[in-house]
Amino acid sequence: MPSPGPDEVLLAVSHCGVCGSDLHAFLNHRGYEGFPEQFTFGHEFSGIIQKIGSGVSGWRVGDRTVVVSVQGCLEKSCPYCSIGFSQLCRSRKIIGIHLDGGMAEYSVVNEKYLIRLPEGMDMMAAALAEPLSVADHCVSDCAKTGKGELVVVSGPGIIGILCALVARLSGAEVVVVGTKTDNHLRLPVARKIGFETFVTGPEKRTLAQQLKERFGRLANQHIEASGAPAAMISATDAVRPLGNITVVGLYADDVPLSLTKLVRNQINLKTSYVSDIPNYQRAIQMLHRGDIPIAELVRTYSLKEGLTAFADAEKQAVLKPILVCQENNCQSNIQ
Ligand SMILES: [Zn+2]
Ligand SMILES: [Zn+2]
Repeated sequence: MPSPGPDEVLLAVSHCGVCGSDLHAFLNHRGYEGFPEQFTFGHEFSGIIQKIGSGVSGWRVGDRTVVVSVQGCLEKSCPYCSIGFSQLCRSRKIIGIHLDGGMAEYSVVNEKYLIRLPEGMDMMAAALAEPLSVADHCVSDCAKTGKGELVVVSGPGIIGILCALVARLSGAEVVVVGTKTDNHLRLPVARKIGFETFVTGPEKRTLAQQLKERFGRLANQHIEASGAPAAMISATDAVRPLGNITVVGLYADDVPLSLTKLVRNQINLKTSYVSDIPNYQRAIQMLHRGDIPIAELVRTYSLKEGLTAFADAEKQAVLKPILVCQENNCQSNIQ
């Protein structure tokens, strides 16, 4: 049982999502080898405050919260935190990577990285606030999709699907694109929640051809969430002049792009990295309103089944595994 220091609270963790980055770190994939081993994983979690450390103001035992995953300094003098980009802070730390995270029954968190949940908010849904905040930053702040636009999302993992949902909420027409390995779970989920889907690959017609055949035009916007170089390259052909490509995926390999093609069509290449606190607040509202079809996206596992959750994520047998971190479920077990 950790105990909260000054400005910290002890949370009884309710639910904690397993992220693709947790899986990469767990499997020691390229780009993740340097992650320190001594910290408990988990950066997508909801919890109820159990104890308050000295100097904590504005929080009480029993308050329900989610935790900000990428923790910038939040100082007014910081060139990034002060303008709404705390995720780019030079002294940022990621809970669950550089600090003990939420894949545990209890976790200690600095009060400035807590976000209050509305009355009656479902705690499992709240564990989706972090990945949904990432999608909100990508779609609402960076891509800025809107009504009447044709938006393609490549990479139907959880971030891609959440980006597709946020884009659809903005009024855009959205197509979700994957490869044939996405055909056993991810694309069927996308279709089940109402998206049109395309399959691309070396043996298929190009994305641009499929768009022209189906819609008679190229996309206004492309959101690249797969992290696959081939998907990024095909985006450069599938966006119309003056369109946007917004990249939220991370790539294990360098991507050989024809920048000339982008310049000649004045296509904007944007990037999006995680999220800041207002994105969490918008994500919580979306989840609380029921805008997100949570049951289609999530499967829960007890903390003891954590390794099964990771194995299922690796097999892509589940879109978003969520660990239930209290034995008899948080709501009844604590307070
Ligand atoms: Zn994550
Ligand atoms: Zn900062």
